[in-house]
Amino acid sequence: MEKRAEKRRIVLVPFPAQGHVTPFIQLGQALIKLNKTSEESFKHCLSQLMLQQDNDIACIIYDELMYFSEAAAKEFKLPSVIFSTVSATSRVCGCVLSKLNAEKFLIDMEDPEVQDKVVDDLHPLTYKDLPTSGMGTLDRYLELCREIFNRGTASGIIINTASCLESSSLSWLQQELGIPVYPLGPLHITVSTNSSLLEEDMSCIEWLNKQKPRSVIYISLGSKAHMEEKEVLEMAWGLYDSNQPFIWVISKSLPEEVSKIVSEKGYIVKWAPQNQVLAHPAVGGFWSHCGWNSSLECIVEGVPMICRPFGDEQKLNAKYIESAWRIGIRLKGEVERGQVKRILKRLITDDEGADMRDRSIGFKEKLKASVRVGGSSYNTLDELVKFLET
Ligand code: UDP
Repeated sequence: MEKRAEKRRIVLVPFPAQGHVTPFIQLGQALIKLNKTSEESFKHCLSQLMLQQDNDIACIIYDELMYFSEAAAKEFKLPSVIFSTVSATSRVCGCVLSKLNAEKFLIDMEDPEVQDKVVDDLHPLTYKDLPTSGMGTLDRYLELCREIFNRGTASGIIINTASCLESSSLSWLQQELGIPVYPLGPLHITVSTNSSLLEEDMSCIEWLNKQKPRSVIYISLGSKAHMEEKEVLEMAWGLYDSNQPFIWVISKSLPEEVSKIVSEKGYIVKWAPQNQVLAHPAVGGFWSHCGWNSSLECIVEGVPMICRPFGDEQKLNAKYIESAWRIGIRLKGEVERGQVKRILKRLITDDEGADMRDRSIGFKEKLKASVRVGGSSYNTLDELVKFLET
């Protein structure tokens, strides 16, 4: 068996964006780690891989957005496994949507009763929570969902999640897709590789070292978020008025007025070492766009959240964070300084925030247990390795 694993190769096809590349690199590392051969033999295997021209490929694991890989796998008669870098619940929504008729759905959705109806077996998700515009028009999005789910030739689907977070969505997927579902996350706990595409500003850790425990709010609204200047200004004033220290990840230059406000109480970086920041004892909350990686990274550190989602898939994560796991508060509507001040107080100083932190710490412990020997994600990874070795 080991001999065989040493000789065979796996082709990984990630989608070129930070939120996809990171879990892909982590998956690659996790598989290598669980491989029973030693590090040296794997290095040998890799160097062989680069030299050899023969066609001994065990499997193609591809990012679901790179679904053209499925056709290549079919043509070369290779097994393939989909890697979904979003939550299991987002995948369920994709499945539900892939069966809908776009025109009828849009008409149905004009009815408030339909909007508020809970999607079968998916409490607390209602129809209005289904992500429908993430990829442009609804038609195009439904087409993508169909491409991903209706090809039916993949041998399994890997999801960067854990059963303690999304058990009902995982069971739903298992039943619906009829192929093994491998929830083997959170992958970032198990690996040490830094997969950041951008240079991390480590100076914020020194700044954090000088702050009081659980006092700092860390703000990162994702690599693709676009914010109006007015919103940035209201955020800055709300942060200033709240008197809470903060780290703010913002890539564009701030207007002079904002810079002035920010530099008094906060610290600005273009790109942070996010996992180290979240793990720092001075951090008391995370104001996030609720991308799936950021959500997982935050829960793993037991930090409560302020949710400010932009895209549809992020709204879905925010819904779970606020209503299912109850570890965060959603900031709705237009951002206004008074509201920012109030929400920060609720999260950092009120009992409500402390309760959220307690629940988040509960998940943190469960998630860490899931990747330890005998845990659900560990066992799932083992099953995947066995499949790859056959
Ligand atoms: N990230 C980071 N430093 C930052 C901001 C983000 O390292 O200053 C990382 C974060 O840890 C996460 C990824 O970028 O792993 C963002 O992925 P996510 O799915 O949360 O959001 P996306 O940017 O894909 O919408």
